[in-house]
Amino acid sequence: DNNKFQAIISHCKEYGFIFQSSEIYDGLSAVYDYGQNGSELKRNIRDYWWKSMTQFHENIVGIDAAIFMHPTTWKASGHVDNFSDPMIDNKDSKKRYRVDHLIEAHAEKLALEGKKEEEAALLQSMDNLLAKDDFDGLKRLIEDNKIKCSVSGTAHWTDIRQFNLMFSTQLGSVAEEASEIYLRPETAQGIFVNFLNVQKTGRMKIPFGIAQVGKAFRNEIVARQFVFRMREFEQMEMQFFVRPGTQKEWYEYWKAERMKWHLSLGISPDKYRFHDHVKLAFYADAACDIEYDFPIGFKEVEGIHSRTDHDLSRHQEYSKKKMQYFDTEINQNYIPYVIETSIGLDRTVLMVLSEAYAEEDLSTEDKKDSRVVLKFPAKLAPIKLAVLPLTKKDGLPEIAREIMDGCKKSFRCFYEEKDTIGKRYRRMDALGTPFCVTVDHQTKEDNTVTIRYRDSMQQERIPIAEISRIINEAIDQ
Ligand code: ATP
Repeated sequence: DNNKFQAIISHCKEYGFIFQSSEIYDGLSAVYDYGQNGSELKRNIRDYWWKSMTQFHENIVGIDAAIFMHPTTWKASGHVDNFSDPMIDNKDSKKRYRVDHLIEAHAEKLALEGKKEEEAALLQSMDNLLAKDDFDGLKRLIEDNKIKCSVSGTAHWTDIRQFNLMFSTQLGSVAEEASEIYLRPETAQGIFVNFLNVQKTGRMKIPFGIAQVGKAFRNEIVARQFVFRMREFEQMEMQFFVRPGTQKEWYEYWKAERMKWHLSLGISPDKYRFHDHVKLAFYADAACDIEYDFPIGFKEVEGIHSRTDHDLSRHQEYSKKKMQYFDTEINQNYIPYVIETSIGLDRTVLMVLSEAYAEEDLSTEDKKDSRVVLKFPAKLAPIKLAVLPLTKKDGLPEIAREIMDGCKKSFRCFYEEKDTIGKRYRRMDALGTPFCVTVDHQTKEDNTVTIRYRDSMQQERIPIAEISRIINEAIDQ
């Protein structure tokens, strides 16, 4: 539902969640900034993931590695040689496209026209050709299907070529003997190169995990997918080190564990599916994606990969440092196997927004009415509580300020005295604030306020002393 997708993008801009980067200069393609509410939402998701990993699992610790790494890292990891996508240029518009994106976009068009069989056949041919790296075949597929892109008429295409997705820059001043380094395209390598540091200093015993959240950079050739695919994005990754031979069990364990995490966001199971990778990277043992039903269709949010001892072995080979672990239970030295869970923070933000966004018709017989509401789980909402004095006088703002002071140390509150109560409620709905309390004249007499629940819009009278308990309970869920 592309209309819903567009509505979410507009809502994000209007309510300070997500802006186009450098918008006053007409923006930078596939780069976005988080505004006053988006940055809170994103931070809450990041914190919840971090807590789920490093606090709920005794055997997982976190690190925060640098974005810049020694250039040999990316030779060892295979990114210098293999981290590329087949691209094709349109000779007329001089625009470059990722071949799979171009074909998928055409397949989507076919699906919209109801040509389901043609869509399936096209995607099947593409998968077969990609699996064989058959670039001539792919070019023919594009031409035979008269795939165009945005320009009308027949497009003239160049040959298909591989382009590396890593951004590079120079370390040191250019006048000096500069060496080329990369902005990391994934956070995982920062964990692998620190494996021994953490294992030894933390006296970690296998099985154990290392978690990290941080920026990653990929020179993706695609736009118009909002924060689903960006050039600068954040990943939340966890590498779990296990004894060789036990990787299948741990892979299943982490599949189940990660799905539980997704469901704990209050999203229903039918909005998710696992997509098992048929074509595995040569070193992988098993791999799947967790896909969410975005308004633009089922798409990957998270990958779970059984990576064998590939990464640590390669770093051992390139660094000449032993990446071994002595397992006292079986009296053996080995290079551990790795199960990785890798989720995009920005994609998770988009998933949570897509799930929360609702346009509701509230019309009654005599009045047309509607609202846009973001039904975030309380733990993720940017603002947990709005405190609203009914009027600006009669001492009501003072009482409201006292309530604010009592609550703001434990969760984020918002004070608002302008506009009618109805308008203020709607604004809080649009920001996804789960609770509003209104201070009125009765408050002065009996120390009660009206609490209004975002989702049900029900209101009830509660003692001021109850406010923080109610909200803390909702956040802990
Ligand atoms: P895709 O096939 O969509 O390009 P990928 O398989 O290359 O993704 P991984 O390398 O497995 O992705 O990265 C793990 C996670 O990081 C993905 O599941 C996704 O959530 C996130 N991610 C990857 N690339 C981007 C991007 N360009 N923008 C936003 N998030 C991304």
